[in-house]
Amino acid sequence: MDEPTSAVIPPVAPRTTTDRLDNTQFVMERPQRAERRLLIILLPLLMLACVTGWMDSELAGVARWYERYVLLPAGGIFAGLMVWAIRVSPVRIWQVRTAALALGPGVVLVGFGQQLWELSNAGFDDTHYFGMSVWLVFASALYIFLLPARYSWRFAVGYYLLTVLMLAMFLLFNTIPVPRFVFSEIVMNNLVAPPVFIVLLSAFTRLRVEYSRARTHAEDLRELALVDGLTQLPNRRAFGLSFKRAKARMQRSKTPLCAMVLDIDHFKRINDSFGHQMGDQVLARLGAVLKKQLRGTDEVFRWGGEEFSVLLEETPGANLPLVAERLRQAIQDAKLLDDGRVTVSIGATHVLPGDTEESVFRRADAALYQSKKDGRNRVTVHEGSKA
Ligand code: GH3
Ligand code: MG
Ligand code: MG
Repeated sequence: MDEPTSAVIPPVAPRTTTDRLDNTQFVMERPQRAERRLLIILLPLLMLACVTGWMDSELAGVARWYERYVLLPAGGIFAGLMVWAIRVSPVRIWQVRTAALALGPGVVLVGFGQQLWELSNAGFDDTHYFGMSVWLVFASALYIFLLPARYSWRFAVGYYLLTVLMLAMFLLFNTIPVPRFVFSEIVMNNLVAPPVFIVLLSAFTRLRVEYSRARTHAEDLRELALVDGLTQLPNRRAFGLSFKRAKARMQRSKTPLCAMVLDIDHFKRINDSFGHQMGDQVLARLGAVLKKQLRGTDEVFRWGGEEFSVLLEETPGANLPLVAERLRQAIQDAKLLDDGRVTVSIGATHVLPGDTEESVFRRADAALYQSKKDGRNRVTVHEGSKA
């Protein structure tokens, strides 16, 4: 009975918020995964735009070389890039991004040049107009979505200036008279819309970055406030929150709720004989044993020092001593110390409708005190009505 029977429990690796923030792999991977998702949505859209652009002209019987030999292959390449984006690791997704960035705006730029060339030769009619203008605007979206903030607007603005330069060349060398309405189209679609679009989109993506940063920050703060760094168990503050929720559920669904407090026996001796570090390890291992023993609906907390508490939902009163005894036995059997045994004393109680966190703790603590007084390594259940 005294011989520990269960296997050695591996030490719990500390995983604190600070560790997580220091972990470059973690910091690197999250944005990369988001980028991969974005590419997997974006690339089929680009493919669809290219293929429908080509099909539209082909069906009307007016397909030009550009649509057959640039647009159609580009659609195929975008589809290929999407498959690549799905298959490559998120850390190497920059290759897909670079290919998409070179190809997407490149295709639009060639199309725009081709359109200007045709216009300067054939003039404007219902099949010759600035149909590419809208795509020039969308090409900037690729830069803004796919490049890091400090490059994105530079590329988008550079691209815009390039298109303005092409337009200026067209107007300069064009010999066919340009109708008046075309000038307003140039001003709106080619000169005004792109910068407005770039500014709005930059502001929007900036806000999104700030928002997700704030959210991560809030998650980290919450973790720091509610999780104990040594055992990775929720702490006493978290107990207060869980208790309120569990009690509300208890009253709503009329299911019993129980609580217990566990205190390691002679923990000072463990610290004194094996060192503080070993003491810490015992605490972490004990937390792991408790978690493993309990059901998913039960919750274990590090109450403080070498004390733990447990909230047991839907546990009928008659089962409470059995569950507590099982925990006590499991801890005794687990080889928490390489050389020696660790035991706990337990105080348990049922939660009554009029209970507060304090009154429950007072009863459980009184029961714990009784366990210690009766010789430790035992369970005492406090009948709530006598509190
Ligand atoms: P018993 O409960 O059986 O009466 O004896 P005990 O020795 O466990 O009693 P006590 O509650 O007085 O001692 C608790 C000790 O736990 C004192 C403190 O140094 C130690 N302790 C509290 N927190 C930690 C911790 O985070 N790490 C380590 N290593 N020791 C801790
Ligand atoms: Mg204590
Ligand atoms: Mg103790």
